[in-house]
Amino acid sequence: MNLDGIHHITAITGDAARNVDFYTRVLGLRMTAKTVNQDDPSVYHLFYGDENAQPGADLTFFEYPSAMPGRPGAGMVHRVVWRVASPDAIAFWAARLEDDGITTERLDGGSLLFADPEGLDHELIVDDSSDEPLIAEHPEIPPALALQGFAGVRAYSAHLEGSSLILERLMGATRREGEGETFELRGERRGGWIAWDPAPDAPGRQSAGTVHHVAWATSDADMPSWIETVTNAGIPNSGYVDRHYFHSLYFREPGGVLYELATREPGFTVDGPVEELGTKLILPPFLEPRREQIAARLTPLPDPRAAWRPAETTQA
Ligand code: ZN
Repeated sequence: MNLDGIHHITAITGDAARNVDFYTRVLGLRMTAKTVNQDDPSVYHLFYGDENAQPGADLTFFEYPSAMPGRPGAGMVHRVVWRVASPDAIAFWAARLEDDGITTERLDGGSLLFADPEGLDHELIVDDSSDEPLIAEHPEIPPALALQGFAGVRAYSAHLEGSSLILERLMGATRREGEGETFELRGERRGGWIAWDPAPDAPGRQSAGTVHHVAWATSDADMPSWIETVTNAGIPNSGYVDRHYFHSLYFREPGGVLYELATREPGFTVDGPVEELGTKLILPPFLEPRREQIAARLTPLPDPRAAWRPAETTQA
C-alpha cells in the first residue's frame, strides 16, 4: 500500500483574477475546475492542472479576497517544485518569466527559482524520474518545454524527527540518497517527495501566497486501510471526507504540515467531459438552486482559454 506521490497542493490567493492570469497565461496550466468554498460560497476554490486534470499536477487555490501577504514558517510548505524535461526547458522558462517581469534565480544544480505574484515560491527542476509527463496545452509553450507536474515540495518542520518518522514508518517513504532530509513517496503509478529545510525563526503566517496543505495520492481501494493506519497510530484525523472530485483523509504531521490523502477516484470528469473542464462554475448540489445569486457575487474572472480557443469556451 504505497502513496503515488503528490495528488494536489492547495494554497491561498488574495487576488483571484491575477492568480488565474499567472497560472494559466504565464505558467500554461489548464484551469481544470472553478468552484466555490462550500463553507463560504461567496469565494472561489480554483483548480489548475494538466490537460486531463490528473493527480500529480493539480494546484488549487482558496480565494481569501484581499488577504494580506502570508509568510511560510515552521509547519508549512514553502516551495512547490515542478518537473521539466530538459535544461532547454529551464532556459525557456527563465526567458519567458523574465519577459513577463518575473525575477528568476538559477540555483546550484541548474534549477530555476521564482515566485508567483503573491510570493509563493516555485522551482523548476529537470526531471530524474521516468514518470509520465502531465502537460497542459498552451499556444506559446511547446509540449517538450511545458511543466510536467509536481516533483515535490519543500517545507519547514517544527519537529524534524517526528516528520521523518511518520513518513518512513507510517507512510512508506524512502529517504532520497544524497539529498538531505528528502523523503520520496512512490507507488505503482508515480512518485513525489517532500524535503525539509531548517525553519526560519520568524513564525509563519498562513495567508495569501502560502500553501495550506499537500495531498498524497491513493485509491478508493486503499483508503479504508489508510484511515485505519492513521487512526491506529493515534494521530487525530478528519475521517473519511467526500470532496466531490476525490475522497480524502486529513491529518497534521508532527512537524505541523497539514497532510491530506486523496483518491484518484472519481476524478474531475465527474462533472462532464474533459473538453469542458474549467469552463463553467461548478456548484455542489445543495448550492445549485442559488447559482444565479452565487455567480453574481463572485469576483469576475477571465476565461483563460477564450483568447486562443474561442470555439471551445462557454460561459458559466
Ligand atoms: Zn486538498
